Amino acid sequence: MTFQVPSQGFTPIERIIANDPGGRGIAPLVRPGELHDAAELLIATRSVLIVTGFFIPAGGACETDGPPGAWALGDALASLGIEVGYVTDAACLPVLGGAGMTPLIEYDPNLLTRHKPTALVSIERVGRAADGKYYNMRGKDIGAFTAPVDDMFLQANAAGIPTIGIGDGGNEIGMGNVRELVAANIKLGPTIACVVPTTHLIVAGVSNWGAWGLVAGLSLLCGRNLLPTVEQARRQLDAIVAAGAVDGVTARPEATVDGLSWERQEAILRSLLSIVQGITTE
Ligand code: ZN
Ligand code: ZN
Repeated sequence: MTFQVPSQGFTPIERIIANDPGGRGIAPLVRPGELHDAAELLIATRSVLIVTGFFIPAGGACETDGPPGAWALGDALASLGIEVGYVTDAACLPVLGGAGMTPLIEYDPNLLTRHKPTALVSIERVGRAADGKYYNMRGKDIGAFTAPVDDMFLQANAAGIPTIGIGDGGNEIGMGNVRELVAANIKLGPTIACVVPTTHLIVAGVSNWGAWGLVAGLSLLCGRNLLPTVEQARRQLDAIVAAGAVDGVTARPEATVDGLSWERQEAILRSLLSIVQGITTE
């Protein structure tokens, strides 16, 4: 089923997800239209690998930004009949596995040739900087806890397989599209800016919000609400925390994301739900 969508339906979504409560200065990195183009790309594809998992050394685990968004996007794609797999590395695997995100695939260098996905999505996954190292937002080298999963995106870009990056800090896969802007606008930008580009880049105040925004965009394109309910989203976050995830800012094992309360997350999801429910038929 296709559905005629007024393209301005995407503008309010872009505005909601660009909310920048952390004051990171992401506004200049936002490219209007990218959300729409990414949604259009995904709705016509067959098989997607979703990469997520950002390791927080101070918490000894994967952070709470990334997996919830990946899960929501995976559920939405699966309900459209698109094949989905979640990819992360050994350091973040216990959280995704413990939460019950399936099918779960541990990264290895031959993944792309073995799985032959028709698109790749990265949600809050660190990518290499200009010096080849992996930096967190504080400028700390986290290479010891990070497999070169971004290499799969370089391979895909070279092979003509479309890629989508979702990030919120400038150091994530996809930020190669706007690396000069990251260098100019983000704290420690010249050091941490990821150089790995993607076909489309979605920049959000919190990466989970970018993923929800993409699901909202898919919902507009297919005329069906594919977003999680508030209860589902909370259950998924709780499962991710129960599996050991920590907040990326506080490093504490709590149901907060980037130091922001659940209420802040819920408010963003409710805003997206109200847009989608106003336009879709179901
Ligand atoms: Zn980030
Ligand atoms: Zn984040």
